[in-house]
Amino acid sequence: MGKDTLFTILFVTIFLIFIIVFLTNSILKPYIDTFLRIGDSIKKSTDGKFENINKPKGLIKGKEVDKLVDNYNSFILMLKNSFDDIHTKLKIFTGDNNRTSDNSFLNLKDIIDNLSELYTFKKQIDIDETSHEIYDRLAQILKNRFNIKHFNFTIYDSENKTMKVVLQEGDDKKECDKSSNFDLCRAYKISQDIYSVSYHKACSCYKDKGFYYCIPLQLMDHITLVIRCVVETQEEFDTLKNYHIIYIKKYLQEAIPNLKIKYIVDELNESNYKDALTGLYNRKFFDQEIDILINLAQREEFSIGVLMLDMDHFKAVNDEYGHDVGDQVLQMLSSIIKENIRESDVAIRMGGEEFLLLLVNIDENNTIKVANKIRQKVATSAIKLKNGDDFYKTVSTGVSMFPDDSTNIFQVVKNADIALYNAKESGRDKVVRFTKSMSSTIDIF
Ligand code: GH3
Ligand code: MG
Ligand code: MG
Repeated sequence: MGKDTLFTILFVTIFLIFIIVFLTNSILKPYIDTFLRIGDSIKKSTDGKFENINKPKGLIKGKEVDKLVDNYNSFILMLKNSFDDIHTKLKIFTGDNNRTSDNSFLNLKDIIDNLSELYTFKKQIDIDETSHEIYDRLAQILKNRFNIKHFNFTIYDSENKTMKVVLQEGDDKKECDKSSNFDLCRAYKISQDIYSVSYHKACSCYKDKGFYYCIPLQLMDHITLVIRCVVETQEEFDTLKNYHIIYIKKYLQEAIPNLKIKYIVDELNESNYKDALTGLYNRKFFDQEIDILINLAQREEFSIGVLMLDMDHFKAVNDEYGHDVGDQVLQMLSSIIKENIRESDVAIRMGGEEFLLLLVNIDENNTIKVANKIRQKVATSAIKLKNGDDFYKTVSTGVSMFPDDSTNIFQVVKNADIALYNAKESGRDKVVRFTKSMSSTIDIF
């Protein structure tokens, strides 16, 4: 009896344990499954893959865990939608680049990194003085950002049938660098990107097997800049062509307007539009070439600060010290002007002691700042006479902005002249910004 009872108790206990384990398992399983699935989904989310989770069987509808799954899924959906939205919007800036990784977070970070560097680059080239500074900056980007070791920038001039290598990095000396082969560059000839393809020779400059990518950029009607990048392996080339080139082109797009301005200024520097006494441009330049600058400003949508500057009581210098000293004063004033404007700005001696300054790509505040810097520098610079004496002169300046004040540059210059007249009338040695309320009968054109 004792034994039987013991076995029965044991059997019942084991049976009960089984029942309890079975019940616990079937009740808890859906909950455990839910948490496992959420864990899985979170892990995938950190890789940028946002996926909803399916509800495990056995969850009681409307209860806490069931609601938790619903809330979690709508959270994931919101994340996914926001992410896709950000990505689509950013792609407007970066183009349809091939993704580097499957992780959307990393891709997004990469795009944002590129955009912020692009922005910094734009800021820097805006203050660069010469085209060579911009070329150097582009070279640094190619080298440091895109890891390209060999590249070459060449300017093709179809009018003069000349070509000039303006920058060379690494040991990429090819047939197309020889000036005797002006027409050899295919990218220049057909104005399209040319890159190496494995099954045929895209460019005759590359006799040997090589990986290259050439981009032509039109600077003027007759001027093309060709940028040639050369890499060593197929893998590097694929990264360059499929992923980097889109960003490189963004940098180039930013640089082109600045390079155009520099190019125009460089070209004009060599022309006969110079005033013999001061070395500044003469009035003929203004009359005949201003359209180029204005068209460019309209196309690229930048402002021009226009200053009309005149020395105060200059006649008295001639009268008191003679014409030579008068000339010396004009030269000193011209030097001060040159030192205080950028290389891409244009300074014109309009006649006598009157100067027109066209400050390129600048806002109103900075235009006035430049005018005042020149004014202060003139007022504090002694003009030394041969007998050891010295004297000081001052200048008055009128300021007007293109295209804010008028889209007609002649009107803007006239406005600056009206403001100058105002500066003279109100005491000289000052900078006066043109306002619509100023009226004058001055007619300089
Ligand atoms: P304001 O303050 O009103 O501008 O008076 P101002 O004396 O400066 O102006 P005004 O227009 O009466 O005189 C300009 C003088 O500049 C007259 C002219 O003889 C002189 N001038 C013009 N070109 C030259 C030049 O190339 N060299 C010299 N030394 N003088 C010149
Ligand atoms: Mg004067
Ligand atoms: Mg004058």
